[in-house]
Amino acid sequence: VAKRLEKFKTTIFTQMSMLAIKHGAINLGQGFPNFDGPDFVKEAAIQAINAGKNQYARGFGVPELNSAIAERFLKDSGLQVDPEKEVTVTSGCTEAIAATILGLINPGDEVILFAPFYDSYEATLSMAGANVKALTLRAPDFAVPLEELKAAVSKNTKAIMINTPHNPTGKMFTREELEFIATLCKDNDVLLFSDEVYDKLAFEADHISMASIPGMYERTVTMNSLGKTFSLTGWKIGWAIAPPHLTWGLRQAHSFLTFATCTPMQAAAAAALRAPDSYYEELKRDYGAKKAILLEGLKAAGFIVYPSSGTYFIMVDHTPFGFHNDIEFCEYLIREVGVAAIPPSVFYLNPEEGKNLVRFTFCKDEDTLRAAVERMKTKL
Ligand code: GLN
Repeated sequence: VAKRLEKFKTTIFTQMSMLAIKHGAINLGQGFPNFDGPDFVKEAAIQAINAGKNQYARGFGVPELNSAIAERFLKDSGLQVDPEKEVTVTSGCTEAIAATILGLINPGDEVILFAPFYDSYEATLSMAGANVKALTLRAPDFAVPLEELKAAVSKNTKAIMINTPHNPTGKMFTREELEFIATLCKDNDVLLFSDEVYDKLAFEADHISMASIPGMYERTVTMNSLGKTFSLTGWKIGWAIAPPHLTWGLRQAHSFLTFATCTPMQAAAAAALRAPDSYYEELKRDYGAKKAILLEGLKAAGFIVYPSSGTYFIMVDHTPFGFHNDIEFCEYLIREVGVAAIPPSVFYLNPEEGKNLVRFTFCKDEDTLRAAVERMKTKL
């Protein structure tokens, strides 16, 4: 394996899912729903395939999807963007992240992350030859350490990357935090990369896009996807919204990474994004019920449970059970209790910082969540 990827192992999501299968554990680890996406979206994909929409798509997205993304962004953030010049369709948000980083970051550029961070950020930054700095969001509220951040930003800083609602903690960046980060970006001429794939799973607060903070649109890449919102994580449809000068860079990387994204799924994605508001309300209502089951269950099982405002994840502290670290705890949980979760220490530059934590997902049907809770209450 190339040096730039030497330190990375098989992703923790794959590791835990494989172990879950091996031991027949209920998988509350990797974040994929165990129920299907909506029929009207699947139907739109079937129709597109039957209508012969099966050759390469336009590189930066099929026109109807670019337009649907721009319409959705206007509704959600109040920003009017040009679907042709400022929206790029990618193969999942993971590719949007890669295209953004590889298209806009030079070797030696410094990029600031907040730990715990999604694993692909660090790996892709490594592929780009960036220097990664990470500031830790600490329990119980995972607030942004404002003064530490201010001290960390320097003339070497090229970009700050955020994720709100935040995987794995469920934290949502507050307006004050976003404004503080925005001021630092503007004062130091720093770019902002914002992963907002859980924006429709905001339970305790309203989602705020960094791009909507005054003066930020021109330096921000906003990334999102279909997977979480439409329970279609396997479709891998994502996108990046950015002003033309940033879009140019990320489109260059996208052109040579994947060139274009699956054509019929893009047609279906356009139909999905035009869903009425009632779709989003129902999604949140369903997930609210699931969240309540898991939350109560984790408390009853004896974990220290941290508040989660958004995403379909809940972060807990496992120390009441007396294990040395998160990996050891999660292995025991799979083998002896029959439940899989994610040990988050790999989401830190210094794994020690995550060793007391465990992430659970509630993107499963209610019976599955109840069964998992029952196992933890009786066997932990
Ligand atoms: N985003 C998913 C999660 O956080 C995992 C995706 C993956 O397996 N790479 O659980």
